[in-house]
Amino acid sequence: MSRAIRNPAQLCQRLELPPEWVDSSVDTSPSFSLFAPLEFVSRMKKGDCHDPLLLQVLPKLEENQLVPGFTADPVGDQQATLAPGLIQKYRGRALLVTSGACAVHCRYCFRREFPYQQSPPQWSTWETALEQLWAAPDVEELILSGGDPLTLSDDTLSELVLRLAEIPHLKRLRLHTRLPIVIPQRVTDDMLTWLTRTRLTPIVVIHANHGNELDEFVAVAVTRLRRAGVTLLNQSVLMQGINDDVESLTALSESLINIGVIPYYLHLLDRATGTHAFEVGAATGIQLLGELRNRLPGYAVPRLAVETAGGASKEILF
Ligand SMILES: *Cc1c(COP(=O)(O)O)cnc(C)c1O
Ligand code: SF4
Repeated sequence: MSRAIRNPAQLCQRLELPPEWVDSSVDTSPSFSLFAPLEFVSRMKKGDCHDPLLLQVLPKLEENQLVPGFTADPVGDQQATLAPGLIQKYRGRALLVTSGACAVHCRYCFRREFPYQQSPPQWSTWETALEQLWAAPDVEELILSGGDPLTLSDDTLSELVLRLAEIPHLKRLRLHTRLPIVIPQRVTDDMLTWLTRTRLTPIVVIHANHGNELDEFVAVAVTRLRRAGVTLLNQSVLMQGINDDVESLTALSESLINIGVIPYYLHLLDRATGTHAFEVGAATGIQLLGELRNRLPGYAVPRLAVETAGGASKEILF
């Protein structure tokens, strides 16, 4: 992560993008900064301003337009917070925001403006969350999210998982992480140890939006997780110009199932401030997934999901 590219002009230069295009489109000093590790950048095509991986990370001037309906907290995280960093919206599962750090800054992120400073990644925060979990016997699954939980050290995560496994009603541990995609070398032996030598059943939900993200290093990381007994799912966001065509979605699903990952959710964009240019309508999503159903095994077609603040589950549109 320390070698990641943080300067938009440097990224554009490295990819040999036309300077006129850069001048007219790229925000060189964005408030939500650029952060793109070299492992991820290496999968982008040189000279292509529309590269689907580049578009996920490159700050654009259009992000600064204020568009009605796009807000700081589009999914109602604040009203569902039980303790600092602990969010419960749905029956049986709770989500712990373990860290504000990510291995990549995704321009479409719905937690772009999440107040991470209110739940810093430290034991004093987690002690309160653990107390809440002890007192919530209906919670059977804990989701480590963020930010990205895998930005924390294996020692810290190992300790946290030990403490979670002491809570008798918890049965499953789920990780929502982009690191196995962004820097697949993060899937270390130590990680496999704390993740699989616990009585909690491990589930890892990775996050790839385009087939080009799945290179041979990702395949190795995913295979190691799978062989260690981890259930692997993928979630994507449907985005304009990135994956809103049937060929891209088909290739993504095929690449995922070929390495043993089940496509789980295709999310409609959460309407966070600055993300409007990525939005694709529900009708287009439904049509695309209908076409996917005619091309792929049933298990390779993700559910089209949208989150509405206050809902009892994510709403499934297809
Ligand atoms: C999306 C989400 C979950 C997980 O929902 P599933 O439908 O079980 O994948 C859990 N908690 C929160 C707060 C969420 O936003
Ligand atoms: S990895 Fe997830 S939380 Fe982090 S910036 Fe990307 S979408 Fe947001």
